[in-house]
Amino acid sequence: MPPQITLKKPVEASVRGGHPWVYRDALKPFAKGLKTGDIVDLMAQDGSFVARGVIEIESPLSFRAWTLNQSERVDDALLIKRLRNAYETRQLVLASDVTGYRLCHGENDHIPGLHCDMYGDIASMRTDGGLGASWEKKFVKAVKEVVKPRAIVVRNTRDKEPRVVHGSLPDEVIISEGNRRFYVDLLKGQKTGFFLDQRENRDRVASISAGLRVLNLFSYTGGFSVAAALAGAKRVVSVDIAAPAIESARQNFSLNGIDPKLHGFQAADVFDVLEGMAETGPEYDLIVLDPPSFARSRKTLERGMRAYGALNTMAFRSLPARGLLATASCSSHVTPTAFLEMVGESAKKAGREVTILGTYGAGMDHPTKMGFPHGQYLKFVLLRVH
Ligand code: SAH
Repeated sequence: MPPQITLKKPVEASVRGGHPWVYRDALKPFAKGLKTGDIVDLMAQDGSFVARGVIEIESPLSFRAWTLNQSERVDDALLIKRLRNAYETRQLVLASDVTGYRLCHGENDHIPGLHCDMYGDIASMRTDGGLGASWEKKFVKAVKEVVKPRAIVVRNTRDKEPRVVHGSLPDEVIISEGNRRFYVDLLKGQKTGFFLDQRENRDRVASISAGLRVLNLFSYTGGFSVAAALAGAKRVVSVDIAAPAIESARQNFSLNGIDPKLHGFQAADVFDVLEGMAETGPEYDLIVLDPPSFARSRKTLERGMRAYGALNTMAFRSLPARGLLATASCSSHVTPTAFLEMVGESAKKAGREVTILGTYGAGMDHPTKMGFPHGQYLKFVLLRVH
C-alpha cells in the first residue's frame, strides 16, 4: 500500500466527484520522507480512502488524483493504458485529414501533469512543474510506446527552453487540418507550437468568412487568418505584437497558396489598433478576438476581466451594422457564464444589440474530465450585431 496523506478540510466529495486536485491548505502536514512524484493514498478525516494519486511537495497544488479505486495500481502499465485510451479517443473524434492534434490533455485524460500534442509524427510534450519533471522519463517512455514518434520535444513549465529528448526535428514541420496547412515551430512557438485547440473554431470562422473584410486580432501565426482567406474572405488583416509571429503568418498564407500581398499584416498592439479604429469608422465585417490569457490566476481575475471587457467593447464599437464578432478567452479562471456576461456587458457599453450565433469551446481532442470545471478553459462565442 502507498503511504497516506490526510485531508484537513472536508473536500473529499469534490475529489470523489471527479475533481483531481487538492491544495496544500486542505491537507495535514506530510510525513517525512515523501518526495515529489511519489504515489500516495489520500484519506478523509474519518479515515476512509478517497483517491490514489501523485504528490508534489513544493507546490501549493499538492495532490493530483489518478484513481478513485483503491484496488487499482498506479504504475507504468496504468499510464500506458490511459494513454492508449486517449489515443483511441482521438482516432474516433478526428477527421483523417487532421495531422495536428492533442493526444493527451493532462488530467482530462486522467494523466495528471502531461499534455502532449502531435504534429504529424512528432510529439511535443508539456509537463507540469516538479511533478512533470519527476515523471518525465515515464511519460516519454509511454508516448514512445503508444505513438512511436520520430521525435519528442519536452517543455517543462519551469524551463525556459524546450528540449529534444528523442530523435531529431526536421527542418520544417507542417501540419494539415482539412484544406489548411500550417508551419509549426516546435522550439520557438507558443504553447507546444500551435493553437490546436481552436481548430474547430477556425472551421466556424471559415464557414462565415466568404466575401468579408476580416480583422484577426492577436493573430499569432495566422490560424484564423488563413482559415478566413482560404474560405474566400475579401481581405484579411492580421495583428499581433510579435513581429516573428506576423512573419510566420505571412509564410502560412504563402504555404496555402494565398498571396500575402493581397492582405494586411501589422506588428502592433491590439489596444492601439482598436483605439485608432474609433476614429476611422467601421472597416471590417468580421473581427476575431483571441487574446492571451489575461487572468492567469484567481488573483488577476478581476483585472483580466476588465481587459477582456475593454477589448470586447472596442471591438463592438468598431463593427458596422450586421457585423460579426468571434470572441475568445483561454483563461481557465473565467467560466463560460462569466465570459458570456462580460461579452453582454461589453455590447451594452458599446450601445450595440447583438445576437449570439453560437457558444463553443475547444475541439474534441481537448476533452474535459467530468467534475473538473477547470478543464473547460476555452470559450469561443460568435455574435452578430444588429
Ligand atoms: N489567435 C491565435 C492565438 C493567440 S495567442 C491563434 O489562433 O493561433 C496570443 C497572441 O497575442 C500572441 O501571439 C501574442 O504575441 C499576442 N499579443 C499579446 N499581447 C498583445 C497585444 N497587446 N497586442 C497584440 N498582440 C498581442
